[in-house]
Amino acid sequence: MKYAIALGSNLGDSRSILESALSRLEGVIARSSWYQTKAVTLPNSPSQPDYLNGCAILETDLEPLELLAKLQHIESEFGRIRQQKWDARTLDLDILLFEDGIFQTQMLNIPHPRMSDRAFVLVPLAEIAPDWQHPVLNRSILELARSIDASDVRKL
Ligand code: ATP
Ligand code: CA
Ligand code: CA
Repeated sequence: MKYAIALGSNLGDSRSILESALSRLEGVIARSSWYQTKAVTLPNSPSQPDYLNGCAILETDLEPLELLAKLQHIESEFGRIRQQKWDARTLDLDILLFEDGIFQTQMLNIPHPRMSDRAFVLVPLAEIAPDWQHPVLNRSILELARSIDASDVRKL
């Protein structure tokens, strides 16, 4: 099964954390450049360091919930402490897309429900999967990336 995943970090040595996380994943068939992006924070919360973000495509036999467990295990290896939503973190691994499938459970939603308004997801993903169709919006990743303001996303 083919998956698109998003990687992000804004604490610690983000680049080496993201590189090591990628090397812990089996079946990586494509990976984007890294991008420096402005952190999204909740209203009235303090500002945060910029993020390093990127995306990868995986080919794996893992089912969606198995892949989520694997990603969460890797996050915890890199010292991710689950605090408040959208807090700064050493590593965040999200599943974005799963073939052309839709997967809805309390623990896991694919497509990732917020991916279509996030330039820090769409810009790197468009680099490696421009023609992948979003199964709910029925638009390609490239179309979605072009329709969003990406001024806070800087390719390194
Ligand atoms: P966001 O989901 O807005 O990017 P976040 O990544 O900071 O926020 P987390 O605290 O990392 O949120 O995750 C909260 C929960 O989201 C996880 O425990 C997981 O069960 C759930 N979740 C739902 N859909 C997904 C998905 N597609 N990828 C990863 N986690 C998901
Ligand atoms: Ca996330
Ligand atoms: Ca997450």
